[in-house]
Amino acid sequence: MNQLASPPRRLPAPRPALGLREGYHSPQVPVDVRLNTNESPYPPPGAWLEALVSEVRRLEYNRYPDRAAVALRQSLAELHGVRPEQVFAANGSNEVLQCLFLAYAGPSRRAVIWEPTYALHSHIAHLTGTEVVAGRRGPSFEVDVRAAVELVESVRPSVTLFCSPNNPTGLVEEPSTVLEVLALGEGLVVVDEAYGQFASWSALGQVSDDTPLVVVRTFSKTWSMAALRLGYLVGPAEVVRILERVALPYHLDALKQAAGRLALRFVPEMEQTVGAIVAERERIARELAKLPVQTWRSEANFLLFRPLAKSGAEVWRQLLDRSVLVRDTSSWPGLEGSLRVTVGLPEENTKFLTALAEVLS
Ligand code: PMP
Repeated sequence: MNQLASPPRRLPAPRPALGLREGYHSPQVPVDVRLNTNESPYPPPGAWLEALVSEVRRLEYNRYPDRAAVALRQSLAELHGVRPEQVFAANGSNEVLQCLFLAYAGPSRRAVIWEPTYALHSHIAHLTGTEVVAGRRGPSFEVDVRAAVELVESVRPSVTLFCSPNNPTGLVEEPSTVLEVLALGEGLVVVDEAYGQFASWSALGQVSDDTPLVVVRTFSKTWSMAALRLGYLVGPAEVVRILERVALPYHLDALKQAAGRLALRFVPEMEQTVGAIVAERERIARELAKLPVQTWRSEANFLLFRPLAKSGAEVWRQLLDRSVLVRDTSSWPGLEGSLRVTVGLPEENTKFLTALAEVLS
């Protein structure tokens, strides 16, 4: 008689390369003032929602979406003055980065980053089995150009990642540093410009078909569309062709494609909210300068600060007690004691500043 074997009692181990790395998460707790994940505090324009609703009625839900996202890429190409073949879109810029690592990094390849920086860069590198070599930023979180050139020359990475403005420090990378590293011709240079619209410099002007440079952008911040998960890169057409082989078939759903395409009709509205956020950022910076905290100049939609007389973790908790949630970066290497606050609506920023002054008094 055929007897079924009893099932094994142990679950298999995951790939050793995963180690025990924790995912990248910020607590999602109900609070009055949520300033911890760098989203836009403003909803998208009402006219965008109306256009999307009428589009929603027309979508062919029984059919797969346009695999090549032709219309969306055409609109993005027009926005940036490039060709649609030079645009690759995915589910958030995180997925763009993941596709880049799958295509250009991976086992037996190296990536160079400068810490402290966006935690997902090294996280995705580890998940894809890429060795990470991390240079250190200086006291103002700048990347030293000579040290950067030396590092890239000795490591010979497949991927070099800049983050401009850098999350969580807010500093724009020095253009000459990016350009000197790019001139070395070592692998692919990636400039993550998730906060690019808030900044005074962009690497977009350097993109061409024969330059090993890609610039990554997102709809999550300036376009007020974090819920819809859409990001893209602008780079050489050949790189885009390779990334299309790595992305899963039909990875961009039809609703998302429509939402992104329609958003690009509202550039003046987007620029207006960017202006409002930048003005508030400068107000918060001026107010923080009056408090016992160290601050750094930011060109993004957030600011990093370090309380001088109290621990960052304690201040984070006391802000939370006042229903204000900021990002606790106080235990991140190189950021000891610091906290990051996202620029919110003017009244939210005022509540944050009042709560902080109270906590520090
Ligand atoms: N890059 C940087 C530097 C970021 O800070 C973020 C968001 N925290 C992302 C990329 C990812 O953005 P998304 O996946 O929402 O496009």
